[in-house]
Amino acid sequence: MKNNKFVGAHTSASGGVFNAVKNAELIGAKAFALFTKNQKRWDAKALDAKTLDLWFEALEHSGIQPKHILPHDSYLINLGNPDEQKLIKSRMAFIDELERCEILGLDRLNFHPGSHLVKLSAKEKRDEVYLKSVEEQCLDMIAESINIALDKTSNVKAVIENTAGQGTNLGYTFEHLAYIIDKVENKERVGVCIDTCHMFVAGYDIRTREAYDKTWADFDRIVGRDKLMGMHINDSKPPLSSKKDRHHSLGEGEIGLDAFRFIMNDERMDDIPLILETIDSDIWKQEIELLYSFVE
Ligand SMILES: [Zn+2]
Ligand SMILES: [Zn+2]
Repeated sequence: MKNNKFVGAHTSASGGVFNAVKNAELIGAKAFALFTKNQKRWDAKALDAKTLDLWFEALEHSGIQPKHILPHDSYLINLGNPDEQKLIKSRMAFIDELERCEILGLDRLNFHPGSHLVKLSAKEKRDEVYLKSVEEQCLDMIAESINIALDKTSNVKAVIENTAGQGTNLGYTFEHLAYIIDKVENKERVGVCIDTCHMFVAGYDIRTREAYDKTWADFDRIVGRDKLMGMHINDSKPPLSSKKDRHHSLGEGEIGLDAFRFIMNDERMDDIPLILETIDSDIWKQEIELLYSFVE
């Protein structure tokens, strides 16, 4: 098989994780993402035997392989929280998420790196040296959080998502991702997920062949293409460099379809989950078909 792309969407696991598999099948997905617990709550029921039976049954029926499934952690977790108690809570919840993935037979967990939460004055924001020191302190804490979590778990890889850079969220540059990875001790168990909307609003253009090649050459040089373990395939409502995280349906936003055509023919994206988080789940089936139609 010449093209080796695995496209799907972040499907609903409402009623049980096995439903995410079924919902993926309904839209013809070859990959999917899911929350393994309610993403807006700290606590979660342990995965019981019945749920696990249904999960593995559904997976076998779908033919989707674990490496093409990209679970996403809770939005509450901030691995760079400057408040010690909150940081501990986040770290414990993150470890729990990794353990849930392991129980589900999954090999990777996608998460947003974290936010420094420091209220910066306009003057401080313009002070590049100061801003960098605030960011690096937080990136150090995130790397330490990952080290602790990897140490307490086995097998599941920590997959850091690039962000839009909204508010005090870190991970909006390739350098941030590389900085964290550099400080993670177990390099075998860390990777990244690149969200096309986030990359675009963070200032990485992918709209033309030239811009796309330049952006991904930068990625290869700074992060390393062997670190790419998943992608979120989203168009963007806001323009380039706006640092606003608002997804759009493919071809409806500021990115346009060419970028997605390039992705579907780029071997960097072979054999990893390519996950739609576009805004209209009713057309995911058509969006998946559209993406496969781009394969040359
Ligand atoms: Zn995303
Ligand atoms: Zn987003």
